[in-house]
Order: sequence, then C-alpha cells, then structure tokens
Amino acid sequence: MSAKPSIARNTERMFWAEAIGHCMNPECQVELIKKGVSIGEMAHIKAHAKGGDVSFDNLLLLCGNCHTQTDSHRTEASVARLKKWKRNRNAAIVEQFAKRYASFRKLKEAVTQILDRNGQIFDSYGPLNDDPYNSERHDLWLKFEGELISNNRRPEIILTKNKNLLPKENRVIVDSFVAHAQEFTVTRDDDQIQRVKLFPRQLLSIFGVEEALVGCPPNLSALQNFVSYLVREDRFISLDLNEAPRLTYVDEGVEVTLKLEDRPRVQQIFWEGGFLGPIPLMSVSKAWCSLLNGYARTK
Ligand SMILES: [Zn+2]
Repeated sequence: MSAKPSIARNTERMFWAEAIGHCMNPECQVELIKKGVSIGEMAHIKAHAKGGDVSFDNLLLLCGNCHTQTDSHRTEASVARLKKWKRNRNAAIVEQFAKRYASFRKLKEAVTQILDRNGQIFDSYGPLNDDPYNSERHDLWLKFEGELISNNRRPEIILTKNKNLLPKENRVIVDSFVAHAQEFTVTRDDDQIQRVKLFPRQLLSIFGVEEALVGCPPNLSALQNFVSYLVREDRFISLDLNEAPRLTYVDEGVEVTLKLEDRPRVQQIFWEGGFLGPIPLMSVSKAWCSLLNGYARTK
C-alpha cells in the first residue's frame, strides 16, 4: 500500500467553509472547535485503500467519533451515506442561515457576535503589516484559521440574504466582504499577504462594532432631519460640529455618541430612519467637506 498523500492546505480551507465548524454527520453536528482547539478530522468517502483520493469531492470533515465509526463500517452503503451527508450539507447550511430578518436590529444581533470573534482572532494572530512573516504568530494563525473560515461563511450567507436592510452604499461593502470570504477560503496561505480582497473593515462600522472614520458626514439635511426627530422624541443630547463632528443622543435608554465621519454607520442610521431626504447626496457631501476642511485650516 502506498503512503497516504497529504491534503493540500488550500483544499483543507474549503472543508472548514463547507462544514462551518460542525461535524458533517447530520445526526451529530458537534462543534469542531472549542477554545481554539480543533477536534475535526478529514475522512475519506471512498477509502484510501480502495483507491479513494484526497480531492475535495472525496473527503469530508467529521468529529473523531464519527470518523472512527465510519472507518470501521466501510461498506458500499456507508460510502453512499457519506456522499449524501456531503451533498445535503450545503443545502442545509444555506437553509439554516439564509433567513430573512424583519429589521436591521435583528440582523445586527445575528452577525455582530461572529464578526466580533473573527476580529479578535485577526487582531491577535493575523499577519502584522510591519512583520508579516512573524513565525510564532503565524503558527497560531494557522491553528485558528479553520474557525475563521467557518465563521466567515455564516455572515456571508446571512448578509447576502438581507442586503435589502442596508442602503446601497453599504451593500457595496457587503459585496466586498463576500468576495473576501470566498477568496480567503480558496487561496493558499502562502499567498495571504498578496490577497486581492482584504477584509473590508467598513463592514464593522455598519454594525457599530468598530468605527471607520472614512468620510464626510453624508448629508446635511439628513442630519437636520435626524436631530429634529431626536428633539421631538426627547432623545437629543448634543451636537458638536468641531473638527471631530459628533452627535450624542439616547438610543434604547442608553446614551450613544455617533461620530459623523463614521460613514457606513451614519449612512445606515439615516437610511433606516428615512432621514436621507430628497437632496442629492454628493452636493451636500461636498458642502460638508469644505466646511470640515475649513475647520481643519483654521485650527
Ligand atoms: Zn460527529
């Protein structure tokens, strides 16, 4: 018998996306990563001894228990069953996560926890700009990679299904996240520094997870509409239009500060509340920009 060939690293990534972190046996579905430790094992569908290869189509990710069980009862029927697990998994995952949410708030609840966790992994172990080949960090990064890929798949499905809850400008950010997640899944780790589509951090701004101070406040009349609304609702606290313009108000009983240059988030809030109004976005944005630049110059 020949030695078992190893599985290509870029093929391995695809299994994590396929399984989204759970055993592929539909009756088991145990979580395969606990506190960064993986209990996932690659199982052959057609056994290696019977000529099964290590291609994506002939392998699936199982927990240790299910792997042992399938290996000890390998019959033609069990091969057919494993094929079926693999075939049905994708449809099941899409069905499970491709749910339409009634509001942006519900959508936010569904995705922020996952985005938060991925952010933590990236910040702790992701390649550093000034030291991308740091090997100690890279070893840890590889350990968490499966979790990261599994985690990306869920928001990818959820956000694609719920783009109607976002303004056009933010849908573009979702599109680049989907492109990034797909590229991340299939590219080899050697190439990761040259990735074309990096994770668009502006996605985190849409959900208020992280600020993205990327642009001018989107629309002056929208801001006026929003402030008038807050005053009417007795939720307005303050509006500061100095060089770091910000609006402070009460949201669900809690005082929040919205930085007006945190554009994806501001855009989301204004669009959702119907405050954007009929005034063309660009002309107002330009007016805002010159106003802000004026502040910067007089500083
Ligand atoms: Zn299992």
